[in-house]
Order: sequence, then structure tokens, then C-alpha cells
Amino acid sequence: MNNKVVVIGGGIGGMTAAGALSELGLEVVLLEKEAQVGGHVGKWDRLFPSRRPGREVIDFMEKNLRTGVDVRCGIEVTSIGRNNGAFTLHLGNSESLTADSMVLATGFELFDAHKKEEYGYGIYDNVITSAELEFMFKSGKKITTHAGMTPKRIGLIHCVGSRDEKVGNLYCSKVC
Ligand SMILES: Cc1cc2nc3c(=O)[nH]c(=O)nc-3n(C[C@H](O)[C@H](O)[C@H](O)COP(=O)(O)OP(=O)(O)OC[C@H]3O[C@@H](n4cnc5c(N)ncnc54)[C@H](O)[C@@H]3O)c2cc1C
Ligand code: SF4
Repeated sequence: MNNKVVVIGGGIGGMTAAGALSELGLEVVLLEKEAQVGGHVGKWDRLFPSRRPGREVIDFMEKNLRTGVDVRCGIEVTSIGRNNGAFTLHLGNSESLTADSMVLATGFELFDAHKKEEYGYGIYDNVITSAELEFMFKSGKKITTHAGMTPKRIGLIHCVGSRDEKVGNLYCSKVC
């Protein structure tokens, strides 16, 4: 049986997949391009619906993972080739790695809110993104506009960058 699996992406998706595959007895290597695992969840303040800090959840998962999974951070997969059924992964450090199977868990990139200029992001100092709001919560500081003013009333606009033909994203983000 072919049993070496490489999981690309050490966000919560890749970590969950790597843990489950390792429990099945497979040899698992997890590759993460950043210096630490966790992806976006590791950067958020508190998670919905549990309200647990994102980093706490990731640290707990990482501790369990390290026993059975070969976790390698700071390594980016730059291209992938296939040879006789096996995969060859080319890495940013000029090395390569072979695998019988792969899990792609490379996640997402945040939408650039400048693209929806009708909402004024980058034009008005009191328009921020939900990710910026998260970082304000995480820093423990007050919620402020870009100019440092404390808002009295706040409006939230959803679906920005999702379900939107004009920016080429027809899908629903499912998390907003
Ligand atoms: C503002 C905001 C708030 C959110 N709040 C919550 C919440 O409260 N609760 C909740 O459950 N969800 C929340 N989410 C959703 C949650 O962030 C995502 O569901 C989750 O991050 C998806 O995890 P992932 O592992 O699929 O992707 P990601 O978190 O994007 O992780 C992907 C990983 O892959 C790595 N990677 C990418 N390309 C390569 C490569 N070529 N080689 C090696 N590594 C690579 C990246 O560096 C990254 O670490 C929120 C999302 C947003 C935008
Ligand atoms: S979860 Fe879907 S429908 Fe809800 S705000 Fe996000 S993109 Fe819109």
C-alpha cells in the first residue's frame, strides 16, 4: 500500500487532515510556508462560536500533531510534478520531496476591499475590513477609525467580495 502523504498548508484545514491521516497509520508530512502553523485562524482574536482565542486552539492542535506528523514550517511548495503515479513537490528552498498522495489545504487570501470602491475603503478613514477589526480586538486596544477616532455607531456590510460577479467571486464565503 502507498502510504506517504504530504499535506500542503498548515492552516486549521491542513492540520485537521494531517492529524486524521496520521491516526490512520499513514506517514504524514505537513508543509507550511509561514514560520508557524495556524494560517488565518492563528491570527484571529476569538473564534465564533466557542469564543476561544484562535492561537490557543492552534497551539493545542499543534501539540497533538507533533507526536505523529512531520511538521515543517518555513517551506513553500512552488510546483508539483507527477511521475509513475507518485508526486514530486518542488520546494522554495530548492529541495524536492516525493509523496504517494497529497492534500492541498492552501486556504484563501483576503479580498482586497479597495476593489469595491463604492464602499469607500481606502478613501474614507472610517471604513475598515473585518480582518482589521479582528486585529484591533486582538491588540486589546480600542476600536478606532484609521485616523484614530472612536466611532459612536458602526454599520457592518456583508458579502463584500463574495457572491459578486463583478469581482469574479461567485461563491458564498460561508463564514461572514
Ligand atoms: C475576518 C475573518 C474572521 C473569521 N472568524 C472565524 C471564526 O470566528 N470562527 C471560525 O470558525 N472561522 C472563522 N473564519 C474562517 C477561518 O479563518 C477559515 O475557515 C480558516 O482559516 C480556513 O482554514 P484553512 O486551513 O483552509 O486555510 P488558511 O487559514 O488560509 O491556511 C492555509 C495555510 O496554507 C499555507 N500555504 C498556502 N500556500 C502554501 C504553499 N504553496 N506552500 C506551503 N504552505 C502554503 C498558508 O500559509 C496558510 O498557513 C474567519 C475568516 C475571516 C476572513
Ligand atoms: S456567508 Fe455568504 S451570504 Fe453570508 S455574508 Fe458571507 S458571503 Fe454573504
